[in-house]
Amino acid sequence: MEKRELVIIGAGPAGLTSAIYGRRAGLDVLLLEKGIPGGQINVTDEIENWPGVIHSAGSDLGVSFRKHAEHFKTEFRDCSVTGIEIRNGSKIVLTDKGEIEAEAIILATGASFRKLGCKGEAEFTGGGVSYCAVCDGAFFEDETIAVVGGGNVAVEEAGYLTRFATKVYIIHRRDEFRADRLAIEQAFSNPRIEPVWNSVVESIEGDGLVQKLVIRNVKTNEISELPVAGVFVFVGTEPNISYLGEPGSLVKQTKGGWIDTNDKMETSVEGIFAAGDMREKFLRQVVTATGDGAVAAMAAYSYITEQLHLRSVLIDPEHVFALFTSSIDQGQINLQTETEKYAKESGVKIALIDGYRNAKMVEKLQIKELPVLMELKKGEIVRSVKVSDLASVKEFLK
Ligand SMILES: Cc1cc2nc3c(=O)[nH]c(=O)nc-3n(C[C@H](O)[C@H](O)[C@H](O)COP(=O)(O)OP(=O)(O)OC[C@H]3O[C@@H](n4cnc5c(N)ncnc54)[C@H](O)[C@@H]3O)c2cc1C
Repeated sequence: MEKRELVIIGAGPAGLTSAIYGRRAGLDVLLLEKGIPGGQINVTDEIENWPGVIHSAGSDLGVSFRKHAEHFKTEFRDCSVTGIEIRNGSKIVLTDKGEIEAEAIILATGASFRKLGCKGEAEFTGGGVSYCAVCDGAFFEDETIAVVGGGNVAVEEAGYLTRFATKVYIIHRRDEFRADRLAIEQAFSNPRIEPVWNSVVESIEGDGLVQKLVIRNVKTNEISELPVAGVFVFVGTEPNISYLGEPGSLVKQTKGGWIDTNDKMETSVEGIFAAGDMREKFLRQVVTATGDGAVAAMAAYSYITEQLHLRSVLIDPEHVFALFTSSIDQGQINLQTETEKYAKESGVKIALIDGYRNAKMVEKLQIKELPVLMELKKGEIVRSVKVSDLASVKEFLK
């Protein structure tokens, strides 16, 4: 099977940045993408909040990100990831073009906005239909627009959009919002906001750009038209994670399916990292996705280096003694210090491994409890014993 150091899934801003950082750190990087590298920014008309570039077509920014990753000789592969499996402690990426074993994986498959599914929605995306107020709000200065949705995002983003638009309708299928009380109060006290209750959008119409919405009252079935220059759809977003199987079956996910990570972008599975919009996070934008991508790559680099180091001191040598302790147990820290001192004085070579930080290696060696002292020959365990103090270490080494 093909074996690679770092496999990145998804070539959006997060994945491309991970590739740049991974390659610059000297890793062997394979970047898997099922569509056009660039991700969601390929469908973004204009980007005005990528620092250093006042205006850019989204697709131009996508091309420059891709060129940057290519410049550092990232290997791209046009394929769709269909699954990830852990087999005997190894991470296997399943794709429609075969399987790849990876030392570390970065998940960067982004998110998709839930769509309304009505006529005209796809046609006018980028031409007045938007899913991102921060991104596109400024294009509607002094216009009348609509927001669709009734949750927090819809109500809050409607408020944000009144900085630009003179009138913002909020079209909601019920007769009350599902948002927080404060958000609702703020919306009701904003003279530029007008709710359109019990209504759904039947179609979005215009001539090149959005000009009107056809809406239906769900109680009376009455059809009416609402002239607007734009419509923001906030009926939810969802991470692109179908290849991860049942929720939580591989990595820990939060409510809504988002991938749970710590600030090093580590998921609940050692050696699998997640970056960008698919993560549980506060702000989903290019700038935050690229930041995540950089962190994930550097965390993956540390992880891979550590794994390679462990292999070189534990698995590859002809003969080695290894003491596994836990760095969160003071007694075990003391034992490690005493053993290190003894090894120096007596000339015995002992690899000192933090079993707490190297949980994967501990699992691989089937260590149930720490501290453990082992004798290995070419990666095979010859002897293993649970030690309690320096005397028991000395006894084992005799
Ligand atoms: C219309 C629109 C306008 C926006 N405007 C702005 C803006 O002005 N400013 C801003 O900062 N942000 C904007 N955003 C948000 C921004 O684009 C995202 O935050 C950013 O792209 C997230 O990057 P990402 O790498 O996490 O994910 P994505 O960009 O979603 O990239 C994920 C990539 O993974 C690939 N992928 C998914 N599943 C698989 C699989 N199974 N196998 C292989 N590949 C897979 C996808 O094809 C995609 O290329 C906008 C978004 C949209 C939709």
